[in-house]
Amino acid sequence: MPKPYLGNPLRCEAVLNKYGFSFRKKYGQNFLIDESVLEDTVDAAEIGPEDVVLEIGPGIGTLTQYLACAAAKVIAVEIDDALLPILDDTLSDWDNVKVLHADIMKTDIQKLADEENGGRPMKVVANLPYYITTPILMKLFESRAPIDSVTVMVQKEVAERIETGPGTKAYGALSLAIQYYAEPSIAVQVPASSFIPRPNVDSAVIVMKRWVDPPVKVNNETLLFQVIRASFQQRRKKLANGITNAGDLSFTKEQVEHALAAVGLDLNVRGEKLTLAQFGVLSDELNQFLG
Ligand code: SAM
Repeated sequence: MPKPYLGNPLRCEAVLNKYGFSFRKKYGQNFLIDESVLEDTVDAAEIGPEDVVLEIGPGIGTLTQYLACAAAKVIAVEIDDALLPILDDTLSDWDNVKVLHADIMKTDIQKLADEENGGRPMKVVANLPYYITTPILMKLFESRAPIDSVTVMVQKEVAERIETGPGTKAYGALSLAIQYYAEPSIAVQVPASSFIPRPNVDSAVIVMKRWVDPPVKVNNETLLFQVIRASFQQRRKKLANGITNAGDLSFTKEQVEHALAAVGLDLNVRGEKLTLAQFGVLSDELNQFLG
């Protein structure tokens, strides 16, 4: 098996110069140049020789080389056509990598798992383009495609928002949405100096393991997410007002107060105090008013 060779600044720059590549900001291009971060990311994802990995945004193929050494197969989805000839070159030593030229937001992940892994779960590993971190994560989980873990480099603040629980400033709709689908834990802290070009923010690798049994079961999942979003719409306001005033919900003040009382919550409570389980019970109470 060939060894990964792109994980240092000199090699990375040599490849970029060879192809006269210019970074495209609109695609969130910050490439990794730190061997220990690359190794730690693959370790955190617990990739084994049986695994099929979906990589989002391979760039010049740096993380892809490490993944290809650990996994059975890597499917790498890249949007930027200027990177395709580079990936052809840098991944030519590995015969277990398939590069797809596509936008991950328009990719049918279920179909990919069917075609590339006989419908069995894949593991997602990526240094995500930060301009669409949340839409990508929500798509991966909401699509219900077979994915058993998602290990991604994201902005440090986003990793903290995903991981945290009630009562913290970072806690919000993103924490609850991800924690509904998966168990998150921050695995690696990554300084801005680990990338070229150097971003303005620090990063972290977060591992999200999809629950086998979801921690909360609700009668109406759409309503749960509407209630969560409404509760954090105006952070400093009471949750009851957020839900009553939400444009996509039509509960009366009395109904909301009745549901809060049934859950045993103070009528003045704010969304940031509620656990996912409490949001689950509250949305089931409210669901009874929907005919
Ligand atoms: N994996 C490489 C690395 O770590 O060096 C590159 C990571 S860079 C932060 C993000 C990559 O995602 C870029 O290669 C970019 O072109 C690609 N990308 C951006 N938007 C995308 C999309 N919608 N679908 C697929 N790839 C995308």
